[in-house]
Amino acid sequence: MSQYVFFFGGGKADGNKDMKDTLGGKGSGLAEMTNAGVPVPPGFTISTQACNAYYDSGGKLPPEVDQQMDAALAKLEALQGKKLGDPADPLLVSVRSGSKFSMPGMMDTILNLGMNDKSVAGVEAKTGNPRFARDSYRRFIQMYGNVVLGIDKDKFEHELSAVKKKFKAKTDVELDAKALDEVIARYKVVVEKNTHHPFPQDPREQLIGARDAVFQSWMNPRAITYRKLNDIPHNLGTAVNVQTMVFGNKGDTSATGVGFTRNPSNGAKEFYGEFLQNAQGEDVVSGVRTPHPITDLEKLMPAAYKQLREITTRLERHYKDVQDFEFTIEENKLYMLQTRNGKRTGLAAINIAVDLCEEGVLTKKEALLKVEPQALDQLLHPIFDPKARKGVEVAAKGLPASPGAATGAIVFTADEAVAWAQKGKKVLLVRMETVPDDIHGMSVAQGILTATGGMTSHAAVVGRQMGKPSVVGCGALEIDAKARTLKVNGQTLREHHAISIDGSTGEVMLSAVPTSASEVIQVVEGKLKPEKSVIFQKFEKLLGWADEVRRLGIRANADVPKDAKVAFGFGARGIGLCRTEHMFFGADRLPHVVKMILAAARGQRGIDLTRRLKERLKEAKGHQVADIKKEIAKVDKEYGKYVKDYTTALKKLEPMQKADFAGLFKEMHGSPVTIRTLDPPLHEFLPKREELMVEIATLKAKSASKNKKAIAAKEKLLRAVEELHEFNPMLGHRGCRLGITYPEITKMQAKAIFEAALQVSKKGIPVKPEVMIPLVGHVEELKRQKAIVLEAAHEVLGKDGSGVDYLIGTMIEVPRGAVTADEIAKEAEFFSFGTNDLTQMGFGLSRDDASKFLLFYQEHGLLDKDPFVTLDASGVGLLVEIGVKKGRSVKPKLKIGVCGEHGGDPASIAFFHKVGLDYVSCSPYRVPIARLAAAQAQLEERASD
Ligand code: PEP
Ligand code: MG
Repeated sequence: MSQYVFFFGGGKADGNKDMKDTLGGKGSGLAEMTNAGVPVPPGFTISTQACNAYYDSGGKLPPEVDQQMDAALAKLEALQGKKLGDPADPLLVSVRSGSKFSMPGMMDTILNLGMNDKSVAGVEAKTGNPRFARDSYRRFIQMYGNVVLGIDKDKFEHELSAVKKKFKAKTDVELDAKALDEVIARYKVVVEKNTHHPFPQDPREQLIGARDAVFQSWMNPRAITYRKLNDIPHNLGTAVNVQTMVFGNKGDTSATGVGFTRNPSNGAKEFYGEFLQNAQGEDVVSGVRTPHPITDLEKLMPAAYKQLREITTRLERHYKDVQDFEFTIEENKLYMLQTRNGKRTGLAAINIAVDLCEEGVLTKKEALLKVEPQALDQLLHPIFDPKARKGVEVAAKGLPASPGAATGAIVFTADEAVAWAQKGKKVLLVRMETVPDDIHGMSVAQGILTATGGMTSHAAVVGRQMGKPSVVGCGALEIDAKARTLKVNGQTLREHHAISIDGSTGEVMLSAVPTSASEVIQVVEGKLKPEKSVIFQKFEKLLGWADEVRRLGIRANADVPKDAKVAFGFGARGIGLCRTEHMFFGADRLPHVVKMILAAARGQRGIDLTRRLKERLKEAKGHQVADIKKEIAKVDKEYGKYVKDYTTALKKLEPMQKADFAGLFKEMHGSPVTIRTLDPPLHEFLPKREELMVEIATLKAKSASKNKKAIAAKEKLLRAVEELHEFNPMLGHRGCRLGITYPEITKMQAKAIFEAALQVSKKGIPVKPEVMIPLVGHVEELKRQKAIVLEAAHEVLGKDGSGVDYLIGTMIEVPRGAVTADEIAKEAEFFSFGTNDLTQMGFGLSRDDASKFLLFYQEHGLLDKDPFVTLDASGVGLLVEIGVKKGRSVKPKLKIGVCGEHGGDPASIAFFHKVGLDYVSCSPYRVPIARLAAAQAQLEERASD
C-alpha cells in the first residue's frame, strides 16, 4: 500500500529533508527539524502524490488517504493527550499547503481547526482566557468560510467592522469576549446565508474540507500565474501539513515571527527578521501590522531569543544555506514552525555563497550551485545617477526590501499596472500592502512601494524573488486607491505621476530620477576601479571559481568594439558572432549600402560577363578578337555604370569594415573573433515599400515639377524594393545565397577582415580571425564561398598567411546543414550552431511572427517554454546532436560552438555542455550568466556520474 501520510513528532519523523518531492518543502523541513531535535509542534504531512491522485480522479482521494489520515490523527491525539473537538481540552491544528518549491502566499492556509461551539469553551477553560478562545474561533470561521466554503472575505470584514463600530473599538484587539461572541454569531449567519448550511461543527468534516481546499488551491489562478513566472511545473502538486497549533497570541509572554539567518536583501551576515507580540503568524506576513525588528525580542524574552539564535544557526549549518524560518513563542516556550532555504536577491545570493564558502560551510563547488545564474542579472540593474540624485529631496522612507533603483508612473492596482505596461509605460505599483493576487501587476512594474508590511511581507518576499526594487512599510504614504491619489510629505500625487524609489536605502522621491549603470557595469566599463567596489570583487570571485570548473568556453555576440570591450570585461574570451550587417546601418554607411544594393544585380552581372569575355579573349584568334572586344564594349555600355556604382560603394565600405574589425581584434586581446559574412535579405536595408509610396505621393501632391529629382530618386528606390520583394524573405535570398550571387560582397568583407587582422597583428597584438559563412545547407555553398575567402586571404596575407592564424567555417542553422554535417565538415574548419534559425526552420515557425501563437501554446500546455528562448532539446536539440556527431565523425577535433540566443540561456547551456560543444556565445550582458551556468552544467554532470 502506498504511504500517503507521514507523521512527525516526539523527536522522530517518517520523512526527512530529501523528500521534498513527496512532502513539499515545508513538510520535509518539519520532518528534518523534528529528527534534529528542534522543538516543532507535532503533526503529519499528506503527500503531493495524494494531491495528484485527487486531480487525476476528478476530486476524489484513494480510501487509503482517509485511513492513514485517521491513524495519524489518532497518533497525534495520543502524543498530545488531547482530542480534536474535545469540549474539555481540544486539540487544535493548522492546515497548510507546501509544495516542492515555495510559493509564498499563493495557496491557502487554515488555522485553529477543531474549533466549534463546544470546544471554544474547552479552550476558554484551559487558558482561562475567554477573549482568546473566542478570537481563535472567529478567526477560524473567517478563514474556513473563505478558503473552504468560498465566501468572499469582505462579507466577514463587513460584519467585523460593524461590531467594531457598535462597541466603539478601533482595532480588533479592543474587542472583548462579549463583542467577539457577537462577531461569531454574525459570522455564522454569513456562512448559513451563503452555503445554506450551518457552520460545520464536526472536526473530522472540518479537516477533510480544509485538506481538500488546500489541494484545490494548487490550481487557483494566482498559484498558476506564480508557477508560470517561476518555471515551476504544474504537475508537482502540493502537500498538506496538519500541525498542532501553538499560539503566539496568548498575551505578552507570547509572540510570533519570521526571520532569516542572513539579510536576504544584501546578504550581510546579520540575524534578520521581525516579530509581533501577542499575535498570530498571519498578522506578521500579511503586512497588516508593521512588526518590530527581531533584535528587540532579545530584551523582551531573552531566553527564547537565545534559543532561537542557537537553533537557527544550527539549521543554517545543517542545510548549508541561509534559513528563512517561522517561529512562535507560546508563554515563553519557543516552537519552530518552518525552516527553508531563504529566497534572496541576486546581490544577496552572491554575497552569501561567497561568505559561506569563506566561513568553511560550503566548498567552492557547493557555493557555485547556490546561485541561480539568472540572478546575476540583477547586479547589472541600474542605480540612481549620483549627480542627478543629489538635488532630489527624499519625501519618505520605508524599508529597503529589494535593492535597485526604479522610476515609474504610479499605479494603484495590479490590473492598472498591466494595462499601462501594455501601452509601453514604465509603472511603479503603489499599494497599502500587496497580496498574492497582485502578482501579475508586480511582474510588469519597475518597482513596488507599499505603505505597510515588514521585510518579510508579501511585497518584500516576492519583490526580492523577482529582482524588483521594492520599498515596503513606508508609513508616511497615505494611499487612497479609490480616488487614485497618493498623499506624501504634504503633496498629493495623482495616478500616473512619476516617482522614484531606491530599494537599497528605502528612499522615496516624488519625481523621475535618472538612473546610471550598476557598480559592476561601471567597473567593467572601466569607469570605476575594481578595488572600489565590494560587489564587483565578490562577483568576480564567484565567477572565477566558475571558470576553474567549467569545460565550455564562453564567447560573446558583439558587432562593435564597445560591446566587445564590455564582453571581455565580463569574462568572454572570444567573439562567437559578429553580425557584420549591423555595421551597415550606421549613418555614414547606409547610403553606400543602398547604392551597393541598387547596383548589385546589374553590377555583378556586368563583372561576371566581362570576366568571362576576357577569359575568352585570351584564347581568341583572328577575327574573334575584334568580336569579343566589341562584346566587351557592349557589356560595358549596358552595365558599366552599375559596375562602377557597385564597386565604388564596396570600396567605400571596405575601409569602414576594416576599422570595425580591427577594433574587435584589439578588444579581444588575441582571443578568437568569429566574423560572419552578410546574412539578412537586402530589402532590410531599404525603406519600406508603403512608406516610399506615401513619400512619392506627398512630393507629387506638393509640386511634381519642383520635386522632380527627388521623385525620380525615390521611384528608383521603389523599383529596387519591388524587385527585391520576396514572399518569404527569411527563407529567401539571404545568408550565403547572397554571397554566392554577389561574390564581390563576400570578397570585400573577407579582404576587410584580413587587412584588419594584418594591421593589428603588425602592432604586436595577436589575432585569430574566424570567417563564418551563414545559412549553409549544402556543402557546395560552403565550398564556393570558402574559395572566395581563401582568394582574399591569399591576396592580403600571401600564401603563407603572414603569421595570421585564421579559420574558415560555417554556421549550422539550416536543418539540411545539420543532417549533412559530415559532408559540410570536410570543407569547414569550425561549426557554429545558429539555433535561432535552426529553431525557426526546425519547427517551421517564423521567428518574427510566432509570438502571436507561441504564448497560446504555452498557456495551453502544448509547449512548456518558448523554443526561441530555451532550446527544444528533444527536437531542435536532436538536430544539434546529429550535427555534432556527423561533423566530428569526419573531423574528431572539429571546433563547435553555438551563437543563437540560446547561448545565454542556462537550461540550453546545460544541453550544449552535454552534447559536447566547445563554447557558447551570447550577448555581452549574459556572459556572467553563461559562465556560471556552464560551471553548474559541469558540476551537475559530475554529480550524476
Ligand atoms: C541564428 O540563426 O541562430 C543566428 C545566430 O543568426 P541570426 O540570429 O543572425 O539569424
Ligand atoms: Mg541565423
